[in-house]
Amino acid sequence: MSQYWSKLVHGLTPYVPGEQPKLQKLIKLNTNENPYPPSPKVLEAIADVTSADLRLYPDPGSDRLRDVIAAYYDVTPQQVFVGNSSDEVLAHTFQALLKHDQPLLFPDITYSFYPVYCGLYGIDYQTVALDAQFQINVDDYQQANGAIIFPNPNAPTGCVLALEQIEQLLQQHPASVVVVDEAYVDFGAKTAISLVHRYPNLLVVQTLSKSRSLAGLRVGLAVGHADLIEGLNRVKNSFNSYPLDRLASAGAIAAFEDQTYFEHTCKAVIDTRNTLTHGLQALGFEVLPSSANFVFTRHPAYDAATLAQGLREQQIIVRHFRLPRIEQFLRISVGTDAECAALLDGLAQLLGT
Ligand SMILES: *Cc1c(COP(=O)(O)O)cnc(C)c1O
Repeated sequence: MSQYWSKLVHGLTPYVPGEQPKLQKLIKLNTNENPYPPSPKVLEAIADVTSADLRLYPDPGSDRLRDVIAAYYDVTPQQVFVGNSSDEVLAHTFQALLKHDQPLLFPDITYSFYPVYCGLYGIDYQTVALDAQFQINVDDYQQANGAIIFPNPNAPTGCVLALEQIEQLLQQHPASVVVVDEAYVDFGAKTAISLVHRYPNLLVVQTLSKSRSLAGLRVGLAVGHADLIEGLNRVKNSFNSYPLDRLASAGAIAAFEDQTYFEHTCKAVIDTRNTLTHGLQALGFEVLPSSANFVFTRHPAYDAATLAQGLREQQIIVRHFRLPRIEQFLRISVGTDAECAALLDGLAQLLGT
């Protein structure tokens, strides 16, 4: 606390990211990073632009990257926005598109950054409970709202909402912006980007942090009607004209151009997720159906916090949220096959089986 803080800062409750331990040789399954390195072509592209040109500002509009993303998703560059991480894209979205007289709606169990942005930007919000199976039920959103946001697949459950349901939501709320945060979409869900042509109120947000192994590069994007993108650009150009540096743009372009590597690593993660799910079930865990690069799981007989602590003592870290309805769950990122085998061994020890 400081007398020099603004009133806004006194009232903030910041997001707490998963731990990034300084110690090496931990098995790190707590922040949904990809266990595989980025494409070698990404590293080459970054090396190629690591030159004296770094004295120059980058392109403020990131035009080449936006062209590549537009071609990839079959939209126009005017329908594409990019930013320094999807967290930044989301922050601009909250400020530009989600602050209205009626409350913003999002699930009670979801990405815990959403209420933080509401606090930062003074946005009134209302949570909508997931059903007993931890699924989003679109009919529960039939109430007064200024906008709606949810991740698909949802975090931290990993559960997916079908495109037909998303379309129904868009039809039910033509006056509200509906944001679909697709941080995990490449691990087994369908992107809603194909719907942006028919629904001017849809904004789809994605990140290169998970499925493209680039959490350290900080690149996120949004696709939607050109009017929504213009709203985002108004905020971006009132905040930071150059959110993407030269290295990030070059790396992101190369990532979208190496489709073979992308498909290969996504498939490896999905295969390991299935093995991990079966291994957990064999130990008596209940595992929610996941379309993401993590699983959300609980054991009927063992306390989640105790298990997380026991794993930590074995140098394995997973995420445990002390939040209502989910305090008995662990969120476990899908690592390599070897990391997941070590996790299952560790849990088997803790369960004494
Ligand atoms: C990881 C994550 C993000 C943030 O991704 P960055 O681009 O690394 O900021 C956004 N939304 C959800 C739901 C996530 O899980």
